[in-house]
Amino acid sequence: MKAIFFDRDGTLNKDKGYVHKVEDFELYEDVILSLQKLKDFAFFIITNQSGVGRGHYSEQQMHAFNNHLVAELKKHRISVRKVYSCGHRPEEGCECRKPSAYFVEQARKEFGLSLDKSWVVGDHDVDILMAKAAGMQSVLVLTGHGVRHLEASRKAGPEYIAANLAQAAAFILFENGKKLISRNDIAQVSHLERESGKTIVTLNGTFDILHQGHEKIIREAKKQGDILIVAVNSDSSVKGNKGPTRPLNGEVERARILAAFPEVDYVTIFSEKTPIELLEEIRPDVHVNGSEYGEECIEAPTVRKYGGRIHIVGLLPGVSTSKLIGEK
Ligand SMILES: [Zn+2]
Repeated sequence: MKAIFFDRDGTLNKDKGYVHKVEDFELYEDVILSLQKLKDFAFFIITNQSGVGRGHYSEQQMHAFNNHLVAELKKHRISVRKVYSCGHRPEEGCECRKPSAYFVEQARKEFGLSLDKSWVVGDHDVDILMAKAAGMQSVLVLTGHGVRHLEASRKAGPEYIAANLAQAAAFILFENGKKLISRNDIAQVSHLERESGKTIVTLNGTFDILHQGHEKIIREAKKQGDILIVAVNSDSSVKGNKGPTRPLNGEVERARILAAFPEVDYVTIFSEKTPIELLEEIRPDVHVNGSEYGEECIEAPTVRKYGGRIHIVGLLPGVSTSKLIGEK
């Protein structure tokens, strides 16, 4: 049996600071749908609740809150197998506080879990470190404290950094590698599609931490034709353009989340400075760009040369990866 170990506060329910009162309980809006999609996994919750050891609330209150969470999920036919809570303060040096994998090991023994097929989803570096200690994969979510501890959590090495649980679920679920096409093969794949009468749409970018702006441009791009090919900038080309701290997610992971979109037919990774060579080979019917570049973008002459057109999608005001990760 494969499992997902969720953190509690800041991952499933909103973290209001030592949250412990049932009346303060509030799930993030994408939790129900995301967990329903992940139903092939057994769900567990592992939570550090040092508020008990610090005297902010009682163990009983902690259990009442946990029980309420489990009951709320059950209303939507989502079953949590077990909730593991550590009520100790960090100074106590207990064996159960994350990043210790103590509770994971207990769950593995009791439920017969295959940890190598299991995941951890959480908003702190301790969640990612616990996953590593137990040989599991992990996704860091930027809800809760995710942004505040981004540097430490990134160093811990999650498989993917997601803006929210919905993206984490999409990343975990995407296993079909058929959409991921190598740079060498993408032109041939697009020509085969065209020969069967399909129109080809191209879109390129970094697509680091996905936000609503990315979702909008992908949806609008798909409406422009039959086959949507998304070209993702390689890690080296992103570093060249945006500096050494980017991208946050590696090229394969960025390609994988794009491939999880039903609108996306093929994803390829390219390392050239501009997508011009790629467009020269693919010869798209439509090339889609964000409005910051405009109709006369550098790709325009190449696309028009083969009878294609440029389609511009308006940006969503105030939405960007920089803003998501707390940069000015
Ligand atoms: Zn403990």
